[in-house]
Amino acid sequence: MISALYLHIPFCRAKCAYCDFDSRALCGEALEDVAARYLEALLARLDAFGEAGALAGVRTVYVGGGTPTVLGSRLAGLVRRVRSWCAPTELTCEANPESFDDAMAAALAEAGATRVSLGVQTLEPAELAAIGRIHTAEQALAAVARGRAVGLDVSCDLMCGLPGQTKESWRRTLGGVVGAAPDHVSVYPLTLEEGTPLARRADADPALEPDGDLQAWCMEEARSELVAAGYRPYEVASYARPGHACAHNIAYWTGESYLGLGRSAAGMLAAGEWDELAALLGGEPAGAARVRYVQRDDAGTRFDVERLSALEAVAEDLMLGMRMTRGVAPELLGRARSLAGEKSVDAAVDEALSRGLVAWDADGRLAPTGRGWLLGNELYGLMWDLASDD
Ligand code: SF4
Repeated sequence: MISALYLHIPFCRAKCAYCDFDSRALCGEALEDVAARYLEALLARLDAFGEAGALAGVRTVYVGGGTPTVLGSRLAGLVRRVRSWCAPTELTCEANPESFDDAMAAALAEAGATRVSLGVQTLEPAELAAIGRIHTAEQALAAVARGRAVGLDVSCDLMCGLPGQTKESWRRTLGGVVGAAPDHVSVYPLTLEEGTPLARRADADPALEPDGDLQAWCMEEARSELVAAGYRPYEVASYARPGHACAHNIAYWTGESYLGLGRSAAGMLAAGEWDELAALLGGEPAGAARVRYVQRDDAGTRFDVERLSALEAVAEDLMLGMRMTRGVAPELLGRARSLAGEKSVDAAVDEALSRGLVAWDADGRLAPTGRGWLLGNELYGLMWDLASDD
């Protein structure tokens, strides 16, 4: 039963300098025309999956982008259409502060959204300008208050390692965001993606390159500030007030199937689920334990597909599970042992223990330590390497 649904809206008002996501910068009539046609195709896909019975068990929905709120009143219509096919307990819309006004907040809440995820990134004007964000810090803080006022769960995304960012400016951003009291905060280190304006500027001016040491400090500072303010870290980048963790993202990190609709949307299905929906996903049978795919066009006729064996699927589950503070359950380790062999799994676990990346908890779960949290790629690599063991 598919429990998570992702819908992609590939439009923004303007392109941020660091962004390599699939999102076109559009405004005015161009946005109206292109968005209307795109939405028509997306709704047709949604209905097709609904009619095929694939949406009945959906418990979490995430409308991401891009900037879904550039759709204006059409976004609430999309939320209502989703709710005509399923009864999710969590329905998140991503938003940027400049397009999350009073009318949008009220319309989303009324249509049945439960959560808004705001791209705040920083509260420093110079840093916002350096990365090409088109909103102000005041707009971001007002958006948090607006979301809370209409009863939505509010999440804020923050970024560290921005051009010109310092320890002091990061502390000011953290303090400002904590003061606005969102329910959830995600903290990401900036990476320079090839071909983006910021990467090109950094080629000419290396001072713009993110400083890894400063980013590690910022991540640790965020952790201590947010924990002191009552947020709980539950994933490497995610903090939530008790009861406000993002169930949709947890589905991604715990190996649950999810359906992705819209151009560039990714999905992951177990073989049986894929085969049942094959007619809507390119027609080929799974031929593997798990299928990952990315939709490559608006209409849903072209896909990039990756097939994972049972061993690769379990290695992936271990790797993703290590992103979570609670780590992985003994049952998952048992499944890994039966597929990869006891010796391989125990050797990987022993290696991770000896490097101080993980520790056993009282319930027999294997969970990342603070060191494993900071050196995530080392830990994920050890788990993923199990997929290639003989
Ligand atoms: S708002 Fe988000 S998706 Fe749009 S350009 Fe900026 S970072 Fe990319």
